[in-house]
Amino acid sequence: MPIKVDIVSPGRRLYSGEAEMVTLPGSNGQMGILHGHAPLLSTLDIGEIVLHRREGNDYLAVSGGVVEVRPDKVTVLADVAEAGEEIDEARAHAALERAQQLLAENPPPHKLPEILASLRRSSLRLKVARHHQGRRSSSGLNYQEG
Ligand code: ATP
Repeated sequence: MPIKVDIVSPGRRLYSGEAEMVTLPGSNGQMGILHGHAPLLSTLDIGEIVLHRREGNDYLAVSGGVVEVRPDKVTVLADVAEAGEEIDEARAHAALERAQQLLAENPPPHKLPEILASLRRSSLRLKVARHHQGRRSSSGLNYQEG
């Protein structure tokens, strides 16, 4: 049985519908949510959300936020999120290169978390964009993360 899914970020709704399963990056690890899951609240890490749907999977990039799971519904309140088709790959490449360059310049320790987070966000966006493109080119086949 499918589970209802709502994904919002400040000021906009990215997804409202159903999925057979949702995988998302909980702060304590990747979570797979099916209909009937025990209720829980968790914060979100930087990572990929996959909506496993009969029509094919949808991929989103998320950077922080919270998820509320109820047996019949998953609600994601993301700090920052993009659907696969929204991701500007050139921008993500540029952000990745900038972060790599900053890392190579031996940054002071207090700058490291920010640089590493930027590195993770940009790598994630490139991965999600790739998964989204794989899904489209496999027309109807369920593209699995790999
Ligand atoms: P950049 O250095 O490329 O601006 P960033 O990591 O500093 O990236 P964020 O602070 O994570 O950017 O996000 C700022 C806003 O820009 C958010 O609304 C986010 O959804 C959007 N955004 C960031 N990078 C991309 C991208 N590559 N494609 C589409 N939207 C993006």
